[in-house]
Amino acid sequence: MSKAIIYRSGKLYKEDIEEDGSPNSLRVVQTGVCGSDRHILAQRLGDGPFVIGHEVVGIVDKLERPELLLGDAVQVGDRVVVAPGINCGKCRNCILKRKYCSNRFVYGFTPFDSPERNGSFAETMELRAGTKLFRIPDTMSDDRASFAEIMACAVGAIEKITDAANLSDLGKVVVLGAGPAGLCVYTAAKFYGMDVYLYDINEEALAFAKRVGPLHIAESLDQMEGVSAVIDCAGSAKAFTQAVELADIGGIVIEFGAFVPAAAPASFPFWLICQKDLTIRGISETYDRNFPVALRVLQESPLQLEQLFTERIPLDELDRIVQYLEKPAIGKAVVISNLNELTIKGEHLR
Ligand SMILES: [Zn+2]
Ligand SMILES: [Zn+2]
Repeated sequence: MSKAIIYRSGKLYKEDIEEDGSPNSLRVVQTGVCGSDRHILAQRLGDGPFVIGHEVVGIVDKLERPELLLGDAVQVGDRVVVAPGINCGKCRNCILKRKYCSNRFVYGFTPFDSPERNGSFAETMELRAGTKLFRIPDTMSDDRASFAEIMACAVGAIEKITDAANLSDLGKVVVLGAGPAGLCVYTAAKFYGMDVYLYDINEEALAFAKRVGPLHIAESLDQMEGVSAVIDCAGSAKAFTQAVELADIGGIVIEFGAFVPAAAPASFPFWLICQKDLTIRGISETYDRNFPVALRVLQESPLQLEQLFTERIPLDELDRIVQYLEKPAIGKAVVISNLNELTIKGEHLR
């Protein structure tokens, strides 16, 4: 039996779920709470049922058929992060080696009837064949490692800039939105040596963001010139409009924040896309291949993203989890499934 939080038709339930005897499993340590989890509870991402949670840090607990797992070679007791998506390998997109599988399974998102297990707001997480695990460096805290999934997504956004632009010609890069996603994109851009600026209209969010360390903040966008790339992590019509206005001729705009339908802009200067010959790209999920580099970014960055955690909610406290998911908050929460006695060498004892 494993305690778990199950999402079903707009509600979360605390339940004991039977383990289904899968040969490989994790003991979940903790899971970062993501904006997508808010969308799930608000019924913007389907009806379930499934165990919610996808920004997992866990410890390999059972490993009877390691050949079914991909990613790093692991042993029982290893601390790992999980790439939440699994591609089928058989659909047209998979065969043509496109990025998106039509039958993609994602832990914490994809419903499957019986059993209703899947994501990581749970004590244990049974691993399906094809799951990719990545070992967490010993010196990295659980909290820092909790950013691996969102950082892998951020690295994907940065790749879209480097795909489209020659790094040596790249001017300024502006990240709109100073929440956890924006800060991950900012951190990744810094890692790649970009001249990156962070902007947010919310002063409180900006002040909070400075917890992670010194940031290059754009006080105003009015006078800014030579912006080659703008990444909208705010996900609002206003921010996207600003991004299109801000990008320089030949620039690139990346939409990183609008994962579900939102209010459309009252007016949108679409002609600027022609006038400035802009490239517009979106990103909708994490590419598995970016997990190793994401862990490297987290290991090498001086920015302390773990300072963004404002709440540590035990898995048992369903009401607190629901409350947190129902109202917007600055910062980020983490759901603690099991206290981790095995780590950490000095860095983050609790
Ligand atoms: Zn997420
Ligand atoms: Zn496929």
